[in-house]
Order: sequence, then C-alpha cells, then structure tokens
Amino acid sequence: MTAVTVLLGAPGSGKGTQAKRLAQHHSFVHLSTGDMLRTAIKAGTTLGNEAKVFMDRGELVSDATMIGLISETVCSLPQKSKVLLDGFPRTLPQAEALSKTASSPVGKVIFFQVPEKELIRRLTGRRVCSKCGASFHLISLPPKKDGICDSCGGALLQRPDDSEGVVQKRLAIFVAQNSQLLDFYRKQAKLVEIDANQPVEELQASLLKILSL
Ligand code: AMP
Repeated sequence: MTAVTVLLGAPGSGKGTQAKRLAQHHSFVHLSTGDMLRTAIKAGTTLGNEAKVFMDRGELVSDATMIGLISETVCSLPQKSKVLLDGFPRTLPQAEALSKTASSPVGKVIFFQVPEKELIRRLTGRRVCSKCGASFHLISLPPKKDGICDSCGGALLQRPDDSEGVVQKRLAIFVAQNSQLLDFYRKQAKLVEIDANQPVEELQASLLKILSL
C-alpha cells in the first residue's frame, strides 16, 4: 500500500519547494507532474512534445494523459512508499480517478493559501537553472552572479510559462478548477488549509506538524 499526501495550491504557492525538502529529509517520494512533463520535453518524447504546446500557453494537459502518467508512476513505486503529489490532481476528473486507485489511498490533502499578488510576484521573478533545476528569485533569492546558478554555474532562465501574460492565464485556470477540488476533499474530511504566505522554514515547520513528523 502506498500512502499518498496531496499538496494543492496555485502555481507559485511553494508546494514544490516544500515537497523537495520533505523528500530530502523525511523519505517522501516527491512526484511533481510539472517536473515529469519538463523532463519528457527535454528528452523529446512523444508525451513531452504533446505536452509542451499546452504548457507554453499556460493551459492544462488532458486529464487522460495526466491520469495515465500518474497511475503508471505510482504503480511502479515500491510498496509502502510515502508519496507527495505536487501538481496532481488539478481537476475533478483527476481527483476522482486518483480516489479509485485502491492500492494508493489519499490521506491528507494540504491546501497552500497565498494571495494572488504575491503569487504573481513569485512567479514572474522566478529564474531556474537550465542545468540542475535550482530555483532563484530576482529579488528575494538572487544568485551571487547575475544569470548564473550558484550551485553549478549553469545559465538561469525564465520558464516560458512564467512570463506575465501566461502567469495570469495559469492563475485563472487554477481558480476555475480549484474550488471543485476543495469541495471534493472537504466532503471527505481530508482537507487541511495552511497559510503558505510565510517564510520557507516556518511553513516547513507547520507542515511537519500537520504530517505528525
Ligand atoms: P507546474 O510545474 O505544476 O506549474 O506545471 C506546469 C504545467 O504542466 C502546467 O501549467 C500544465 O500545463 C502542466 N501540468 C502539470 N500538472 C498537470 C496536471 N495535473 N494536469 C494538467 N496539466 C498539468
């Protein structure tokens, strides 16, 4: 049996940053559908080529594709894995499909709340290393040398979907889908809401409490 914790939240709400830390220090398997798709794009697979068109426009990839990708990945994990889902489910059909996989029941669903203005600031200022994937921010976490990754010296780039116009579209799509997801998990008494507009360390401490770690 695989225990699944779902991290819900808008793009830029800090789910990925928190999940990476939990994976490093608390043996969670971090599954980010956005990262999986970006890896597929880099590798030039059919999935990557199909997904890129939607991702660059800030639109969602089809439910069928995403449900297939996640169920395949979850099934391939060792038994008793502790999984953090980051970026999935994003729609009600995805949540319903996830709830039907008996071997990987969803435990807690944690919703990261951040005001929209702050999300826009975080996303449009984000710069990501093209080599190692480390994430920086032009104002709140600038690299030591402009445009160069502190960790590996790779070039820092803006994700195509972090440009201002595309960010607005991603946030609008998030708002349109998310209330259905919140209702779905609230009815099952799985939803925990968390103020994610706080420093990384403090948010991590709150998460550890919620996860009883
Ligand atoms: P993220 O890195 O989570 O912001 O995801 C980047 C992009 O990948 C999204 O804007 C979508 O185009 C696509 N994507 C990631 N996860 C999903 C999902 N569960 N359903 C549909 N599209 C997704």
